[in-house]
Amino acid sequence: MNDFWKLLRRFVPPYKKYLALNVVFNVLSAILTLFSFAVIMPILEMLFQINETGYSYMPFSSASVSQWTKVAINNFYYYTQETIVYYGQSTTLALLAAMLVFMTGLKTGTAYLSSYFIIPLRSGIVRDIRNHLYDKIVSLPIGFFTNERKGDVMARISGDVTEIETSIMASLDMLFKNPVMIIVCLATMIALSWQLTLFVLVLLPIAGVAMGKIGKRLKRVSLESQQQWGVLMSNIEETLGGLRIIKAFNAEDKVERRFRAGTQKFFDLSNRVARRQSLAHPMSEFLGTLTIAIVLWFGGTLIISGTSNITASSFIYYMVIFYSIINPAKDLSKAVYAIQKGLASMERVDKILNARNPIANPAHPVEITHFKGEVKYEGVTFGYDKTVPVVKDVSFTIKPGETVALVGQSGSGKSTVADLLPRFYDVDGGCIKIDGVDIRDMKVYELRSYMGNVNQEAILFNDTFYNNITFGVKHATKEQVIEAARIANAHEFIMSTEHGYDTNIGDRGCRLSGGQRQRLSIARAILKNPPILILDEATSALDSESELLVQQALDRLMKDRTTLVIAHRLSTIKNATQICVMHDGAIVERGTHDELISKCGYYTRLVEMQSIGGKQ
Ligand code: ADP
Ligand code: MG
Repeated sequence: MNDFWKLLRRFVPPYKKYLALNVVFNVLSAILTLFSFAVIMPILEMLFQINETGYSYMPFSSASVSQWTKVAINNFYYYTQETIVYYGQSTTLALLAAMLVFMTGLKTGTAYLSSYFIIPLRSGIVRDIRNHLYDKIVSLPIGFFTNERKGDVMARISGDVTEIETSIMASLDMLFKNPVMIIVCLATMIALSWQLTLFVLVLLPIAGVAMGKIGKRLKRVSLESQQQWGVLMSNIEETLGGLRIIKAFNAEDKVERRFRAGTQKFFDLSNRVARRQSLAHPMSEFLGTLTIAIVLWFGGTLIISGTSNITASSFIYYMVIFYSIINPAKDLSKAVYAIQKGLASMERVDKILNARNPIANPAHPVEITHFKGEVKYEGVTFGYDKTVPVVKDVSFTIKPGETVALVGQSGSGKSTVADLLPRFYDVDGGCIKIDGVDIRDMKVYELRSYMGNVNQEAILFNDTFYNNITFGVKHATKEQVIEAARIANAHEFIMSTEHGYDTNIGDRGCRLSGGQRQRLSIARAILKNPPILILDEATSALDSESELLVQQALDRLMKDRTTLVIAHRLSTIKNATQICVMHDGAIVERGTHDELISKCGYYTRLVEMQSIGGKQ
């Protein structure tokens, strides 16, 4: 439960006002409950004709403050007695019953108001957790998501947050209402008969301990079941992405079997969770009735033997109040169970919320005052797994406005070298400098604002052409967007669509051809107008016809910009100032196209293998 209070302290503060209102109405409702039941007492006394005393009116001014309750009760009986004399017993009964209804109406009304005010707190906290999670996901480095599976992250942001909502937040209501109710009722019970109450208080903790034991185990099983849910979500995510391959390889059976095994495991785990959780209700009901039975026996004995000053009618009132403790206590124990379940989910959500972001802004960021755009790699070493470097001692310089090309076999580390520049990952050794400033000394936002990316797979969003092009810029005029699209050879095909720039491009641009997608992402880079460009195999996924259009667009884009280009086609790189040949993470040759050809080394072999220059 400690974790639970911590959770509240983290998320409740913005909703203090609602919490205060909730507590006020809870207290009101508890007090009204007492009054509404108190009306039962004279009714019972009339029915059983227990009370034969004559009452006379007592003015409040004649009594001290501590006796006001007594005076109030006395006067209530006095008026009842008078009403019986004037209107008869039957009418009085009806009046008392009407009073009971009225009091109960007030009581349920305030109970509703207390819930009314806790609801925004409940859903607000869930909204806040989701927003925090999303912000965190956006801010975490790319490397984080290679370790955590995408589907699992989705399971946490959807399933676990919902679990927190249904179990913890739904219990908040009970948690703030029931203790108030229990305290008010207990106080009344003590006032009625302290002996009986003392007896009750000895019984209750014994029941409490038994319930707590089961709760602990519940949290552990629940954690396992949420994890399994994450596995299932990953599975679905993978399937949706790979449906084309699954069908092409007739692998439906295989993936179905794998999914079945997953759901079966989830089935077993959720059975265990649900069974354990449903134990809460029968357990508390049984323990509750047991205590009532014991109290009935004990109290009854007290009255019969005449050793207590409690009357039969106030004993019944006592039992009614005691009974109204049992329900809140039961709910409270259910809430404690639900909270355990929800805490397991909170733990999983916190795994993401508390993940450390290694790509952070420096304490004292350095600003480049006169930006020229020189990029310099100095002995850069990096490995996804720190023990296996995939980039080894790489050094090169790109002068402002010039182009350096990286070539090499697939897997030689070219993309990794490029990913280090916008700090998608941080170098393990050496450093990367822009205009002589280590990129780790710059603000991450500023660093990335200098760069434009075009990759092999154009990354587009399910939005209009216009919004996809203006994605990286805050203010752009329609003219600028069209101009960028023209330069990128994208204007024509955009205009030929139904709504022009306002046409939606579908999920990840699936309604476009590869070349169109690529030209769109080039238009985006042109509009951002960055001084530094990173092109990672921007044309390699294209057929020769669309390649020509894309290449034209790229040439215009690269003009006067510092460019790091990765390509396996000569057309993109033959004009590069320098070509670096990578092999197994290291640069093994460098020079211009002609210099390298004359060396008859790696580069020549690459060219011969047709992986470069296959289509000139
Ligand atoms: P290239 O772009 O030259 O084809 P990459 O830079 O993509 O090569 O990959 C270099 C090496 O790093 C490869 O051996 C690849 O398996 C490995 N690698 C690439 N990305 C990751 C990643 N996210 N996690 C772990 N290893 C990776
Ligand atoms: Mg690559």
